[in-house]
Amino acid sequence: MKVVLHICCGVCAAGAAAVLLGEGHGVTGYFYNPNIYPREEYDRRLDAARLVAQKLGFEMAEGPYDTAGWLLATAGQENEPEGGLRCRACYRVRLEESYNYMLDSGAGAFTSTLTISPHKSAVEINRIGEEIGGENYLSRDFKKKDGFKKAMQTAKNWGLYRQNYCGCIYSMQETHR
Ligand code: SF4
Repeated sequence: MKVVLHICCGVCAAGAAAVLLGEGHGVTGYFYNPNIYPREEYDRRLDAARLVAQKLGFEMAEGPYDTAGWLLATAGQENEPEGGLRCRACYRVRLEESYNYMLDSGAGAFTSTLTISPHKSAVEINRIGEEIGGENYLSRDFKKKDGFKKAMQTAKNWGLYRQNYCGCIYSMQETHR
C-alpha cells in the first residue's frame, strides 16, 4: 500500500521508513513541522530528512512552514510540560495536515515517525491519528523492537544531524535552562 509518512526529522525517518519499506509498503515522506524553532534548526532537520529519503529511495515533499498557525493552535499552553496538552495539540496539527496530504496524493494510509521517540506516547499519538483518519491511519509504535536504537545507529553511520531538543521554542528553552 502507498503510505504517507509524516516525517519530523532525519533520525526518526531513518527508523520508521525502514520499517514501512520492510513491510512492503510504498513510502511517500511528508515533512511538515511548523513547530520547529528557529528556522535554521528547521532547515537542518529538513536536510537530514532529505538525505534519508535519498538513501532509502523514497520521495519526500515539504509542507508549509506555517509557524503562525502552529502558535495559534498551541496558544495558552506555553507552560505545559513536555508530553502535556501543548504536545497533543502539536501532534494534532501535524497529523491533520499529513492526513490532508494523504487525501491529495491518493495514498491509502498515513502514519508518523513521531512514535519512534522514547519521550513520546505512541498510545496518545495513535489515538489522535485514528481520530483524524479512522481506518486510513496506520497505527504503529516504531520504537518497538529496538526501533529507536536502530535509527540512532543508522544516523551515526550516515552522519545525520541529531537534535538535542524536541523542536518548539519552549522545548528549546527547557533544554537550555
Ligand atoms: S515539546 Fe515537541 S511535541 Fe511538544 S509542543 Fe514542543 S515540539 Fe511539539
